[in-house]
Amino acid sequence: MSTISDKYYNSYLKDNINKIDNNRVNYIEDQVVYSSDNKIKSRIIQSDLIDSYISALESKIEEKTNNNEMIAALRIDEKMDNKDNNIRTQAIYRGVSGSKKVAITFDDTPSPETLRKLINFAKENNVKMVFFVNTKKLSKESAELLKEGLSTGLIRIGNHTHSHNTELFKKLNTKNINLSEEDKKLISKEIDDWEQTLKNYGIEDKYLKHYFRPPGGGGGYKNNNTFLLDELSSKGYKYLPMWDVEFIYSINQKKKQDPSYGYNAKNIEDILVNSVEKTKGGNLVLLHFKNEDVEGSLNAIKKLKDKGYNFVFPEELLEDNQLKDNKKT
Ligand SMILES: [Zn+2]
Repeated sequence: MSTISDKYYNSYLKDNINKIDNNRVNYIEDQVVYSSDNKIKSRIIQSDLIDSYISALESKIEEKTNNNEMIAALRIDEKMDNKDNNIRTQAIYRGVSGSKKVAITFDDTPSPETLRKLINFAKENNVKMVFFVNTKKLSKESAELLKEGLSTGLIRIGNHTHSHNTELFKKLNTKNINLSEEDKKLISKEIDDWEQTLKNYGIEDKYLKHYFRPPGGGGGYKNNNTFLLDELSSKGYKYLPMWDVEFIYSINQKKKQDPSYGYNAKNIEDILVNSVEKTKGGNLVLLHFKNEDVEGSLNAIKKLKDKGYNFVFPEELLEDNQLKDNKKT
């Protein structure tokens, strides 16, 4: 296989110079490539996602600064995606602002109590959610509840790896790293062990290959590393949903201004409602299966539903023309 850089071409320059505050694009920093003079940010993305990336950046601009910076988006050559007999996994960061659609995702290892609460809420309020679970410590009781959730059609599960080895997956984002063959095998095994554990619990194959989200956000776009996307593609995963709203980052930012600002349900509720309202939807929200996240989010979802928002699966955030036909033909 030729190197990825052969397959990129610079095909898009946003003419209007956007004035970006670096702090406000922190959440996608992993996917932003800086030039040596630190002036140009390049976003290496799949061609059909350029507009949503640009809008993701724009949605983060709250104030103009004097620091003119250009967003350059590099497109992956379309040909790269035309591999025969293969699915190309599509990364999703957020959807279309103004769409009034929001995707809710919960990460890591859920307790049965939390799952019970979320499934009941999803059914009562007709809200879709994706659970990105780790399987190493997943109990049989939780697995049974996942099955129940899946059967409603409102809950889907995503592969968040077997053991959440953040150090391993962060290597993907490390500049100029050469992944060892052993690392590559370990990454592949983390994905496979997740599938096997859920199969052992009796979860059907058809539920397993919708989504993958790397632990710790280690996706590997820095350094043009496509190992993970290639691996997921060959395993048949459809989507790699990242996120544009998350609480740990938002709360740490607010804490810098006000040290008394804390990680609690009320603050999470406010952040979620405000983030969604700011862009009028299109958000891909990352939450965790912990009490504050769950409590705050369910309150926020109710409020947002009253304002006319719909809660959808991640790929439903994208417009039809942004959705790749990634099915086997
Ligand atoms: Zn995680």
